Amino acid sequence: MSKKSLDFLKQLINTPSPAGFEQPAAALWRKEAAQYVDKVNADILGNSIAILNPKGSPRIMLAAHVDEIGFMVQYITDEGYLYFGPIGGHDATVVVGQRVWIHGEKGPVLGVLGRKAIHLMKQEERGKNVELDDLWIDIGAASKEEALKRVNVGDPITYASTMEALSEKVYTSHAFDDKMGAYVLIETMKLLKGKKIKPCVCFVATTQEETTYAGSRSSSFGVDATVGIAVDVSHATDNPASDKKKKGDFKLGDGPMIAIGAQINPKVQKLLFSVAKNKKIPHQREASPWHSGTDAIAMQVARAGMATAVVSVPLRYMHTPNEVLHVDDLENTAKLLAAFLEAVTPEMDWIP
Ligand SMILES: [Zn+2]
Repeated sequence: MSKKSLDFLKQLINTPSPAGFEQPAAALWRKEAAQYVDKVNADILGNSIAILNPKGSPRIMLAAHVDEIGFMVQYITDEGYLYFGPIGGHDATVVVGQRVWIHGEKGPVLGVLGRKAIHLMKQEERGKNVELDDLWIDIGAASKEEALKRVNVGDPITYASTMEALSEKVYTSHAFDDKMGAYVLIETMKLLKGKKIKPCVCFVATTQEETTYAGSRSSSFGVDATVGIAVDVSHATDNPASDKKKKGDFKLGDGPMIAIGAQINPKVQKLLFSVAKNKKIPHQREASPWHSGTDAIAMQVARAGMATAVVSVPLRYMHTPNEVLHVDDLENTAKLLAAFLEAVTPEMDWIP
């Protein structure tokens, strides 16, 4: 991974984008994408669409969601503490004790998730599960009046962790899900720059995946593609808490996970596996027996249907402030997508 690419990924991560509040990260993505494609648009739901080879055929949609999970201020107590609701899915046990940014109108405000100190807990409280409703954010305000000078009800909140290296190629951050996907789309554009490809490719940084799939639903209709690939994260199972019997065997650094299942068009899937094999791109085979939990849910049934596939980067500790991934998986995912797009011709038939 080049320094320039790493810097862009860090910048994208550091630009807040909880579902429904993606505008700053979406604008950053569009600015970056504009260097590599023919046209960049945005739509009414805030989706960003970067179009390469607009006259090509067939139309292919590559989607990655630029939104992240977060929280929202719901209530401010007379003492100046903030109570909040979740944007997307959270495990309350990992939220406790975190630092967060509250994105107020006048700029970001740092807060901490307070909890009663262990010394002050009764015996029965110590073993109790934490629930989000029990948690509050402390911004150091002495009263509601003082808090209201910096934050308000409705302000979105994100984790305050930053992207850091754990080892040479393994990094941790919040919001890799799925800003790393939006980043991989940019890397794919770079790989295709100056190459002649047959299809028209619409790279879409979708919004609101973590809450309603509203972004992929509307953009799939607008893009009107024949083939679509959702690029997202999936669970690596190479850590002590994961059960391989339940999910399969997936390792960081072993390459993108190519899904097989009801949401996956067999012909798109076959072509993905064959280009991965021919170009010697490391990859992993993922069974997806139910729905994929990705934008492919909306893409597959857009208009009269889209031939969809899901390509995922293995991720540890999904939806926590410290998700972990391997940067080689990002590069290999971009290589796989670029090789796929180079292999597609207008004559291909996608009916299974
Ligand atoms: Zn997610």
